[in-house]
Amino acid sequence: MAEVLVYVDHADGAVRKPTLELLTLARRIGEPVAVFLGAGAEDAAPTLAEYGATKVLAADEPEFVEYLVVPKVDALHAAFAHVSPAAVLVPSSVEGKEIAGRLAVRTGSGLITDAVDVEAGEDGPVATQSVFAGSYTTKSRITKGTPVITVKPNSAAPAAAPAAGSVERLAVTVAEASKGTEVVSRTARESTGRPELTEAAVVVAGGRGVNGDFSAVEALADSLGAAVGASRAAVDAGWYPHSNQVGQTGKSVSPQLYIAAGISGAIQHRAGMQTSRTIVAVNKDEEAPIFDLVDYGVVGDLFDVVPQLTAELDAR
Ligand code: FAD
Repeated sequence: MAEVLVYVDHADGAVRKPTLELLTLARRIGEPVAVFLGAGAEDAAPTLAEYGATKVLAADEPEFVEYLVVPKVDALHAAFAHVSPAAVLVPSSVEGKEIAGRLAVRTGSGLITDAVDVEAGEDGPVATQSVFAGSYTTKSRITKGTPVITVKPNSAAPAAAPAAGSVERLAVTVAEASKGTEVVSRTARESTGRPELTEAAVVVAGGRGVNGDFSAVEALADSLGAAVGASRAAVDAGWYPHSNQVGQTGKSVSPQLYIAAGISGAIQHRAGMQTSRTIVAVNKDEEAPIFDLVDYGVVGDLFDVVPQLTAELDAR
């Protein structure tokens, strides 16, 4: 069976959920081979094996530090040459998309970004994308070279399928040209204790309707263990950081549950959230376009509805 390279996204060795989703999807098209860069491959290997990695190709070079993608592309390229895979799957993060794009150029392959599903096809893997702000769903296939596909978080439910997952060290030569960038400083963002927006299973988002006060949105998010999102109107008003913006010029999210409070549902906002599994909106205007999209809609003032919902959840 053909091998499929899966680029492992991890935080200091802890494998992130999108990687488990990629392993699950990779099994549909071949035998997943995980590529783990940085320290901690041996500790991560059992998790990767549990989700179907038949092998873990590992490399740890000093250049594999956060934000420097080119050395990581050197390593992924080395793994590519080692395995000759049928496809390469990479998480659709900012870093993942840059890595995937550079790998596709180096290998003379085609690239599909932001897929929401990947299936086996007669002539190679077929990727599903939601395009033009979600107006169309397309299915595409790479016709030249080895498909390189980035997949959005929450596109598949991780399913275990234990495999061997033994660690094999990969010989990587980081090209001199790849060493031309260094991290000169880092500023840690204050942690909110909430999950990362693009990975969260539940997102509670606020828009202009919150009128500068995100406390009700945050309280509901905390009751649900959710991440907080914001519309661009709320971000532009300075009520919430840009890193929390959902939409065309913000982040794309695909959680199990998306709750929009005081958000009208402009097409640019929908572009970032309409692939969410279940969508709930609270809006005082029953004509708001968001109601065309929702599974459940509540017409009402968010400052009445959202705290009631939080209280109900907290009482359980
Ligand atoms: P509004 O459209 O003003 O809607 C506010 C809603 O809150 C209304 O429906 C109102 O009925 C409701 N409301 C008010 N008070 C209450 C209350 N007390 N209780 C309940 N409901 C209440 N937008 C994004 O979000 N993300 C993007 O990435 C993005 N990118 C863009 C890119 C481009 C190139 C352009 C041109 C625009 C982009 N926008 C983006 C902006 C987008 O067009 C909208 O302007 C924006 O999404 C509106 O945000 P909103 O829904 O919060 O505000």
